[in-house]
Formats: sequence, C-alpha cells, structure tokens
Amino acid sequence: MRLQGKAVSPGYAVGEAYCYERAVLKAPQTYLESGEAEAAWKIFLSGRQAAIQELERLKEQPGTAESAKRVMAAHTDILKDRALEKAIRKRIEQERRNALWAVELVYDHYKQIMENAKDPLFRERAADFEDTKGRLLRCCQGIPEQDLSALGKPVILVCGDLMPSDTANLDREHVLAIVTQVGGETSHSAILARNYGIPAVLGVPDVMRQVCSGDTVAVDGADGSVFVRPDEQICQNYRQKRERYLEQVKQDAVWKHVPCRTADGAEVEICLNIASDDALDGENLEGIHGVGLLRTEFLYMHSDHLPTEEEQMRAYQHVLQAAKGKPVILRTLDIGGDKTLDYFELPRENNPFLGERAIRLCLHHPEIFQTQLRAALRASVSGELWLMFPMIGSMEDIRTVKKQLEQARHTLEERGQSYGANVKVGIMIEIPSIAILADQAAQEVDFASIGSNDLVQYLEAADRMNPAVARYYESWSPAVYRLIGLVSREFEKAGKVLSVCGEMAGDPEQALILAGLGLRKLSMNPGMVSQVKKTLAQYPLSRLRELAQAACQCGSAEEVHQLFQA
Ligand code: PEP
Ligand code: MG
Repeated sequence: MRLQGKAVSPGYAVGEAYCYERAVLKAPQTYLESGEAEAAWKIFLSGRQAAIQELERLKEQPGTAESAKRVMAAHTDILKDRALEKAIRKRIEQERRNALWAVELVYDHYKQIMENAKDPLFRERAADFEDTKGRLLRCCQGIPEQDLSALGKPVILVCGDLMPSDTANLDREHVLAIVTQVGGETSHSAILARNYGIPAVLGVPDVMRQVCSGDTVAVDGADGSVFVRPDEQICQNYRQKRERYLEQVKQDAVWKHVPCRTADGAEVEICLNIASDDALDGENLEGIHGVGLLRTEFLYMHSDHLPTEEEQMRAYQHVLQAAKGKPVILRTLDIGGDKTLDYFELPRENNPFLGERAIRLCLHHPEIFQTQLRAALRASVSGELWLMFPMIGSMEDIRTVKKQLEQARHTLEERGQSYGANVKVGIMIEIPSIAILADQAAQEVDFASIGSNDLVQYLEAADRMNPAVARYYESWSPAVYRLIGLVSREFEKAGKVLSVCGEMAGDPEQALILAGLGLRKLSMNPGMVSQVKKTLAQYPLSRLRELAQAACQCGSAEEVHQLFQA
C-alpha cells in the first residue's frame, strides 16, 4: 500500500514501524460487587508499585536532564502520598468504586484544589497530578509505557503527531525516519527532523490506522511516499536510494565549513538555528557566521517551572561562550500557538496562532518578560548577543518592547549588575503588517529576521499546523517572494541587517531566490548548511537576481517550481 504525505526532511529509509500514540486513559465508572474490594485494592497497589518503578528506571537512564529528574522525584512523592492512598482506599471500600475510578476521582479532586490555589506555585503543581494520574491509570491496567528515549533498535517512528515534549529525549540514533498523521513543513516535528537529519514525511492521512508496529515501511523523504508492507523489490530499491543518499551527504559535508559565496564571489552569511543551550557544544563553527536564531522556548518547555533569571542567564552564557565571539541572535519567548507549557495556563482561544502568542503573551505578563530580558542582558557580557522579538505587528509593538528593555536595563543598574553595552535590538518579521511597514521598522531597529514559517501562514491565512489546509500553506508562492523582496529593499536602503530564519532559508532552491532578492544572511538547521552553500556556489548573483525576478512574476507556486526545471 502506498500512502502520500508531505516530504519535509530529505532522505530515505526502510525499516520496522514503531507506532507511537500518547495513551489517553479513562476509567470505567462501574461499582464493585460485594467481595471485590480486596482485589480492586490490590490492583491499585500493584499499579502504584509499577508506576514508582517506572519512574525510578527513567531517572536512572543516562542522559536524563536534572530538571526531568526533579519532576520524576516529585511524581514519585505524589504516588507515595499517604493522604491520597487513604482517600483512594475509602473510595474503593466504602463507596465501592473500581480501582481506576477511585484513582481518577481522588487525583482529579487534588488537581482541582491545586488549580484553585492562590499561590502560583501550587497552581503549577496541578499538571503534576494530571501527569501522575495518567501513569498510574496506565500501570493499573498493565499497559507498558511507550518511551521514545530508548527505542533499542532502528525503527520508523509512526505517530499522530509529535509534541515537543515527546521529543525532548528522543532516541535519535534509532529513528530511521518519522511519519506523522498531522503536521506540515514548518511544524515542530519537521524542524526537529531536519535538525537531526532524519527523513520525514508528515501529514499522511489515516496513517495510524494503516500501519501497525512491526510492519515494514519504506519512506521517501523526497516525494512524500510512504510504502506500507512493500514487496522486496521496493525495499531493495529504497535501501539503495538510502545508501546513495548517505554517501552524497558525506561528500557534501566538505561544504559545511567553507565560506559561503556565489559563483561570482558575493558572500552570503550562513547562521544556525538552534533550540538548546548545548547545541553548539563540540560544533566546529568554521565557515558559520553565528547563531541566527536561538529559540529560547526550550528552557521553558524542558522545565517544570518558569525558569529563573539565574537559570536562564547560565543557559544563555553557555551558548555565547560556545559561539566563541560570533553573534548569537536570542529570540525572546515565543510560546502559544502550538507551543504550550504544562505548568503555565495559556488563555483558551479559538485561534491561538492569531491570539495571545509570543510577544503579546510576554507583554501581558511583564514579570516573565522582564526576567528573560534581565537574564539575556546579564549574559550579554559573555559574548556578542543580539536580542530579537517575535510576532511584532506594529510600530507600537516595537516601541513598547524597547521600553520594556529600558526598564530591564534600569533594574540591573539599580541592582548594580553589569550588562553588555552593545546589545543589538531587532525584530522578527513574520506578520504581514510589519513587513509592509518595513521602511519605518528599519529606522527603529538594528536588524530584523524574516520568520517565513509564520509569515506564510499569516499572509496566506493557512494554519501551519492544519493538514486540511496544507495545500493553501505555500512558501513557494510569488506573493511570499514579493513581500520578502519589499522588506529586503527597505532594509538595504536603511543599511540595516536583514536575515531569513524560517525554514525556507535552509531549502537550497529557495535560498537561491532569497539571495536573488537581496538577502545576504540566511539562518538554518545545521543539517542544511552544506547543501545550501554548495547550491549557492553554482550561480552568479546576476543569475540569482533574474531568478528572483522571474519568481516574483510567476502566477503560482507551481510556476516557480518550473523555473528550476528549465
Ligand atoms: C518562523 O516563524 O519562521 C520562525 C523561525 O519561528 P518559529 O518557527 O519558531 O515560529
Ligand atoms: Mg515564528
């Protein structure tokens, strides 16, 4: 059987499927017959024991972060809590509810108490009760945990969707390819796959019903085909494709550390998009201009609390030191949309991508924003830090964030703490309203970076996460190139630095168009650097300008693709 999805990360793979689905467990609401209470109590006790052992095992696993260990210890304490145990016993013995139902009622009750607490620290603990309840319900039913951190053998990961929390500890050595039911080219699963160099096909309708764990699957990260239980001929074909592809990747690696120049010698600065504080550890940065996008969400998502000023400062300092004096563009918190935090309740909105996301959320919670700004400013003494604000939509937004930054500086001065004097201030251009005002924006900032992932979704009114509208989400559209061209001209006129840090910067063909539109700085996942440099080196600027002009004159994305076939 052949299924079709969107190829979002190149490469090929053949292997055994591992179907991953977050278990959503509900307790049946049935009363116990007389004489069944003892057995129900035993189900609870052995489920709890299994849950505690599971947490112990996870804690001991090599590579488990300290913050994750702390969460696991807190969950173990909840499981062992005497008051909870007593309440569950009462529900079973006196109210004659089955073990799962008793667990659910008691945990939900405690969770609600936490949610209603005045103290935000208690409110944050509600998520721990929910999480622990899920583990306990599963263990009471003897359902093993699906764990992506220790797959044990090479697999093709097949899932509904991959949430950032699923992938925090992904065993990437063993993931041959990723196939998901939802998600498009700029979803976080796609970004992760490209980052790790794992072939991926996303948005494959119904894939979870068509594939079972253990099935052989062949994945084509070039055209988006997924073959389920293919015959030997197809398997053989894909094994060969994989070998050739990996050989090509090996050969192209020589491009990674050479300066990036077009065929006639024009320089294009190539930067990295990173999303963790250890991403540069051990990286050879020769031929890399710096970090073009440090997504700081990782700090908030891999934690069970809002990271403190000290925690953040240490993480940012670590990146700046690893960058060895090269510029690092730190993007302030971009939470909301598809990125949520277990311990911090975001507003429930019908259109979260159009709602209180990123800078809007930070401006609504100035204490969170100020903490991050102070941490970034303090870290800036350790290297060359550029600060960038996401989801800027107006000139008022720019002025407001600059005032917030002033306030953070002022607090540090009052405290007598030092900070870097030359922190550059920039914005992401990802909302069309600010792109159209690029001439004015360029006067107010030191630099900007085009977030094409969001710019495309807002320009074309197509949710980047929704497979039903994936065909309307089109980064190859001439409308996108025209708008980027407009921003590029205005920033060039103003003499201000402009880059692109959305996924299109790491697509070798789109990188050609971007260079032709005047971009001289592109930031991408480390895995795409060699290909982009190699491709840019094949064309002189004059040819790239013609190509960009032609792309802007096309009537559709399809026509733009055809320019590359000529
Ligand atoms: C973008 O929108 O292009 C971008 C780089 O930000 P993110 O993908 O994190 O929204
Ligand atoms: Mg964005």
